[in-house]
Amino acid sequence: MDEHFYQALAKAGIDGDLLDQATYASLLTDKSVKLMPLLNAAYTVREHFHGKTVTVHIINNVSNGLCSEDCNYCPQSKSSKAEIVEYSEKSKEEILAEAKQAYEAGAFRYCMVYAGRRAREQRIERIADLVRTIKEQYPIEVCVSAGIMDEKSTLLLKEAGLDRLNHNLNTSSSQYAKICTTHTYTDRLNTLKAARNAGLEVCSGIITGMGETAVELVALAMMLRNLETKSIPINFLLPIAGNKLETAENLTPEYCLKILCLFRFINPQAEIRTAAGREYHLRSMEVMSLYAANSLFMDGYLNTRGKSRKDTLQMIVDAGFTIKSDKSAEELLLQEEEDSAAPGLKSDTDLHPARN
Ligand code: SF4
Repeated sequence: MDEHFYQALAKAGIDGDLLDQATYASLLTDKSVKLMPLLNAAYTVREHFHGKTVTVHIINNVSNGLCSEDCNYCPQSKSSKAEIVEYSEKSKEEILAEAKQAYEAGAFRYCMVYAGRRAREQRIERIADLVRTIKEQYPIEVCVSAGIMDEKSTLLLKEAGLDRLNHNLNTSSSQYAKICTTHTYTDRLNTLKAARNAGLEVCSGIITGMGETAVELVALAMMLRNLETKSIPINFLLPIAGNKLETAENLTPEYCLKILCLFRFINPQAEIRTAAGREYHLRSMEVMSLYAANSLFMDGYLNTRGKSRKDTLQMIVDAGFTIKSDKSAEELLLQEEEDSAAPGLKSDTDLHPARN
């Protein structure tokens, strides 16, 4: 591919235009598409809409496991034999204390995630109460993920001050029945539509490495564009012993980075987030994800640990990016160093315990 190919990708992204879908699929299949010029083109789009800022998210597993659904990638599903700590719901005090910690750690957004097919009315009311309290106490954006939801629930959460609702599409419609049989792709789409109709921002992401083709990934990126998705977490399937889908397919660091570029070109203004599997699949090329994505999770994921806070912040600073927070990444790094030197905190593990 010559330089005009990469320039056309960047120009279309900045102008909000689309190239044909076969061109986008070729980014993942055509060996003549080179990583560095592709990443440079994605960075041109990323910089145009997001500058050099990185939005840091911290996720809280408010409830874990005990799920009726059979999503084959998930250690909390009824189809998984993974050993995880199961609990139905953390207390309000614990969730609020963790919101405070997330704010103080520099998170722009605090994401509360509830396991399960759908949240019943009482849980929705408790979530609304939590959202109201967090928004009163901290200048932090709040996102909730609590399964399938109708418009009554999304409206209640919007009224409580919720900024965003997450519900991942995970894979293309053509693949969905292969990864889950207890609910449908349409159930997921309807939840996203209910969120949008209530005036909430939509967050919906994917998990790659589950057997999807390049064409299916393009279809998924297009669907998220059509839904005006503001935030797209890109997960790379993690090998979790006991899960039905234990092994990721095709996920070399180069392929993962090309997927991030693909989603940036098709969803140029979206907050593209490198999510679970960042450390595991990108390995030594992890920092390069910042050139296509403008967001990441800090402090690990739902059922797996990630890089420490200090290492994540250091990576952002070393690459010359800044974070969207009222504290700079440098200030937060200094704080991390002081905390780790304080008596009683002996190691990084003390600050970042494994979630299961
Ligand atoms: S992804 Fe959500 S709905 Fe599916 S098994 Fe896991 S917790 Fe349950």
